[in-house]
This record gives sequence, structure tokens and C-alpha cells, in this order.
Amino acid sequence: MRKYDILLCDADDTLLDFALCEKTAVAALLSEFGVKADDALLSSYSEHNDRLWKMLERGEITMQELIFLRFREFFKLHGIKGDGDRAAVRYREILSKYAFTTDGAKELLDRCKGKVRVYVISNGKAEVQISRFKLAGITDNTDGLFISELLGTKKPDTDFFVKAASSISDFSKERALVYGDSLTADIAGGIAFGVDTCWYNPHGKANENGPVPKYEIRTHKELYPILHI
Ligand SMILES: [Mg+2]
Repeated sequence: MRKYDILLCDADDTLLDFALCEKTAVAALLSEFGVKADDALLSSYSEHNDRLWKMLERGEITMQELIFLRFREFFKLHGIKGDGDRAAVRYREILSKYAFTTDGAKELLDRCKGKVRVYVISNGKAEVQISRFKLAGITDNTDGLFISELLGTKKPDTDFFVKAASSISDFSKERALVYGDSLTADIAGGIAFGVDTCWYNPHGKANENGPVPKYEIRTHKELYPILHI
């Protein structure tokens, strides 16, 4: 007997290898500014960007502030000459072109077909995400996309999940599962909304004082028995 037939599935670092997309896009951007990026510089950007995303999740800054702050501050931090705001615009154009998927993501979507409806839940800029989802084959292989910018609210806010659910026909909290890599956005949001959650934790990160998901898995394949697919 299948318990879940609606999967609310995160995109970045769940279906898409965001770390790789980001690294590739930042390196391409920096080369346009005459900077050859090494691993240390790329890691520094990633940490800086993560910190801003956490601030966004906590409601301390807006998406617009995140988009512009990240390059202004990053350029300043590393003494990179160039217009941070122009870099922010250009970065989104470049990032739109990168959509590497994680191991087993395509197979997971294939397995779900006709058995479990899959809806993507993503925090991000609509233009960038829609382009990347299309490139990755996610758009054609899922039942709907919910993107924070279009919903006017973001994960982990309950309102995000309420709005997404209201657009899903025959939605039921009991039959839905939230699946994603972020404890603060996906798992916390899913729990607050009142649905079961599954934490995709490919690197076996420790959960220190985070919300406790119902399931925790390291590969997409481990979702098969949970979904009975
Ligand atoms: Mg994610």
C-alpha cells in the first residue's frame, strides 16, 4: 500500500548539483572580470553565499538584497576590481545555463512517473530556476514547479507550502512527503506545515540541533522503498 503519492521535492542540491553549477558559473563570471578563480576563492564565495541564504531564510534580508549584496561584498572581501551590481546581473545570466543533476535524480523522476506526482519546491529567482529546470529535464518530468519568487513567499515559511498545496489537485497532507537537502528550509518548513519529511543527506552531515526529519537518506535510490516505487 503506497502511503505517499505527492512528492514536494527541492531542486538545488537535491535534484540539481548546485555546488557544481555554482562553482562553474562563478569561475566563468570571475574570468570575465579578469580573475582566475582557484578552489579557495570558489569555496570562499560559496560560504559567503550560503551565509546570505541563511539570512534570507530567517527573514533578515530580502532576495533582492541577497542578489546584490553577494557580489558587492565578495568583491570587496577579495579586492576584486569591478562593479558588483553588474556582476550580480551577469551571474544570473551565466547560472541560468548550468543545470547539472545529482546522481540518480533523473532515475528518481522516471521511477515516480504514473505512481507519485512530483512538484518542485524551490527558493530562487524564477527566471534562473525555470531556465535551469528546463535544461535539466526537470520541467518535462515533474507535475509542477513552485518557485519562491512567483509565490511571493519562501521556504521554510508555512505560507509557501500552503500556497503550493492549494495549487495541487486532490492534495492531502497525509499523502505528501517533503524531500530536500536543507534542514532549515525543506525539513523545518515541511514539519511546520504538518507533512512528513525526508532529508537528502548525501555527505552524511551531522544534524546538530536541527529539526528531526522522519526519514534520512544518502542516495535518491533509498527513496524508492519509502515511496513504494
Ligand atoms: Mg536545496
